[in-house]
Amino acid sequence: MAIPRTKPLEGVCSHCGRGITFPAELIGTSTACPHCGQTTELLLPQPEIAPTLPRRVIVWTLVAVLVLVSGLVASLVALNRAQRLATRQKLAEVAPAQSALPAEGAHATVPRGTEVDGFEVSTVQVEKPSTGGRAYAVGTVANRLDRPRKAVRIELDLFNATGQKVGVAMDSTPLIEPAGRWQFRAPVIVPEAVAAKLASVREQSPPPGP
Ligand SMILES: [Zn+2]
Repeated sequence: MAIPRTKPLEGVCSHCGRGITFPAELIGTSTACPHCGQTTELLLPQPEIAPTLPRRVIVWTLVAVLVLVSGLVASLVALNRAQRLATRQKLAEVAPAQSALPAEGAHATVPRGTEVDGFEVSTVQVEKPSTGGRAYAVGTVANRLDRPRKAVRIELDLFNATGQKVGVAMDSTPLIEPAGRWQFRAPVIVPEAVAAKLASVREQSPPPGP
């Protein structure tokens, strides 16, 4: 489709803005405007609305996409953080509940043969010699596991005649053989203590501080 050399083009004067009709081959050359008389290049009018509108649309589309993407990223980050927080909270809820179990069991009525962590603990008696010597909280701890239990430590809560906790007593043994038994005797230094209940029994993995 060859354009005829003589086909006129519609240009615009760069000074007065009015239309100038000129032959196509003269495009880009300078001429005197027939309307205002000033020298103007013969150029096609710059289509103003058409290119700027899509450009603006493109810019705003990009902005919208950026906002959407950053919003999506932010919400993904927030979701990820929330999930991690939830997991951490779940772990935090589980951990104290597990470690609190033996202590809670101890404060409830201790039935005969309380099983704690592979140990079976008998009911605890406070023995007071009629001669007035030292009292002991006594009972037995059985190892229910197939492995030796080392540095076993038992802690007992002491109660007075009205059931108030008045202190603690403890005893330890270096070893309980597999399926073995340990007769513990925890010295009771609180004079009003008449009863004792299991607070905890466990192997001491790290030696306790003073
Ligand atoms: Zn002009």
